[in-house]
Amino acid sequence: MEQIVIIGNGISGITLARHIRKLSDKKITIVSVETDYFFSRTALMYVYMGHMKFEHTQPYENWFWKKNKIELKKGYVKTVETKSKTLHFAEGGTMQYDKLVIATGSKPNKFGWPGQDLDGVMGMYSKQDLDNLEKYAPHKEACKRAVIVGGGLIGIELAEMLNSRNIPVTFLVRESSFWNGVLPEGESEMINRHIKNHHIDLRLSTNLKEIKSDENGRVKSVIIKETGEELLCDVVGLTAGVTPNIDFLKDSEIETDKGVKVNRFLETNITDVYAIGDCAEQHEAIGNRRSIEAVWYTGRMMGETLAQTICGNRIKYKPGHWFNSAKFMDIEYQTYGWVFGGKGRPEYEHHFHWKHTDDTKCITVAYHKNTNKFLGINTFGIRMRHETFNLWLTEERDVDYVMNHLSEANFDPEFYSKFENDILSAYNNQLQTA
Ligand SMILES: Cc1cc2nc3c(=O)[nH]c(=O)nc-3n(C[C@H](O)[C@H](O)[C@H](O)COP(=O)(O)OP(=O)(O)OC[C@H]3O[C@@H](n4cnc5c(N)ncnc54)[C@H](O)[C@@H]3O)c2cc1C
Repeated sequence: MEQIVIIGNGISGITLARHIRKLSDKKITIVSVETDYFFSRTALMYVYMGHMKFEHTQPYENWFWKKNKIELKKGYVKTVETKSKTLHFAEGGTMQYDKLVIATGSKPNKFGWPGQDLDGVMGMYSKQDLDNLEKYAPHKEACKRAVIVGGGLIGIELAEMLNSRNIPVTFLVRESSFWNGVLPEGESEMINRHIKNHHIDLRLSTNLKEIKSDENGRVKSVIIKETGEELLCDVVGLTAGVTPNIDFLKDSEIETDKGVKVNRFLETNITDVYAIGDCAEQHEAIGNRRSIEAVWYTGRMMGETLAQTICGNRIKYKPGHWFNSAKFMDIEYQTYGWVFGGKGRPEYEHHFHWKHTDDTKCITVAYHKNTNKFLGINTFGIRMRHETFNLWLTEERDVDYVMNHLSEANFDPEFYSKFENDILSAYNNQLQTA
């Protein structure tokens, strides 16, 4: 019986294993160093915030794996020998495979800052990070201030987590406005104000120079690069993006760059070795997507796709229209299609932007300035339906159609009806001024 070994028990590895099991009787082993069982990484924040226990982040009962003949092994894969198809474990011992899937996810970026490995300095990625946060920032008496370095989606989640325990937070953001490499200006500025309204000390255009230690090797303060200011703190959260977690492959023959290089079939340069999820890097990015996609649903899609290939139906990874969602403290964010902010915005992309006077809801609709083709939408504080936008993007609707049918895409028509007239009249006004 063919032995499939998957390194990584995150969403991509687990989805793959479940789908291979649906399609075949192959032997499946999942190896992971982080936890015994799969858990939902995106729910980690709610554990710290007291909304759920860690066990509740595990979508499957512990008996599920045995019942489905999926073997779980806890261990860290130190090296991969592709000629003999052997894994070597840091804890000792080896494992043979017929087909190997690398699904090892990401790790938080560290840019060589002095003090980045001190006690009390952590990323916010793994279960161990969560345990560390609980240890060093259990309450505001033990942690008088936390400094977060890096203003992306994980940074703002960490700010919200600490805020929920009334721990004062200073948030260092390199950019001149929050996440403005991705978000258009109006949205980014609204989020700046939202963060500050939560009494978070948001420092824009600000970089970390170094992290200072006390006499016990624990973080004592950080130094700001631009001003030399020293900020006393008990915890430093490093949330300046993530990179593929693939250091263990550096002596193998598997081709890597930032991630494990794969083709559209998620195959690497070595026969019978594949990569999926956050750690996979496409040779050529698909459409406007990035060559590495560190998001939950693409990991799941890659797992589903590769299960087909491994079970004899070789198919390409076809992710469809881009979408994503996140939360900026109290404001839900959704995006469908492409809306570019900052320098990445193409010259042909025009935006219609509407913001509610309460400063917590806005939308940006992107369209082609020559053809009026609808390109994408960002919504803040207003929930839209994925299926509807997917359809409109496939049908290549124009912006007028989308604007005049927005209520159909709304998740909660009663809620939306309060803003519909305002949005439409702003849109029609913009047309007249244009
Ligand atoms: C706090 C947080 C919030 C997020 N929120 C969102 C969100 O709202 N929406 C969204 O789309 N995405 C979100 N993401 C991103 C999303 O969680 C990831 O894209 C996804 O979990 C990646 O899944 P994966 O299966 O590729 O890898 P992972 O979940 O990282 O799993 C990989 C596993 O492999 C293990 N491993 C690595 N190397 C080895 C080795 N050598 N030996 C053994 N085991 C190894 C790791 O320890 C890990 O357990 C969030 C991420 C974080 C950290």
